[in-house]
Amino acid sequence: MKCAACGSYSYRAFPAEVLIHFPGLVNIDKSPVFVFPKITICPECGVGQFRVPEAELRLLMNRDVAAAAEYQKKTAGERVAAAA
Ligand SMILES: [Zn+2]
Repeated sequence: MKCAACGSYSYRAFPAEVLIHFPGLVNIDKSPVFVFPKITICPECGVGQFRVPEAELRLLMNRDVAAAAEYQKKTAGERVAAAA
């Protein structure tokens, strides 16, 4: 594996747990998603990488789409008022 940041082929893998939150105040009520990836860390530059498993990836993408739709619905009235 090659480091995406510095190009080094030296890395170490570590088991990890990551709690991914949805960004912004509009998503404050969305449950975060836990993933337990193996993180590879480059000892040359410190960049870490991991792959989100398929099931958790779907949760993240589906909840994000729902949150984006909800945000647009909530702000639609504000946009109409600002345009008037
Ligand atoms: Zn690197």
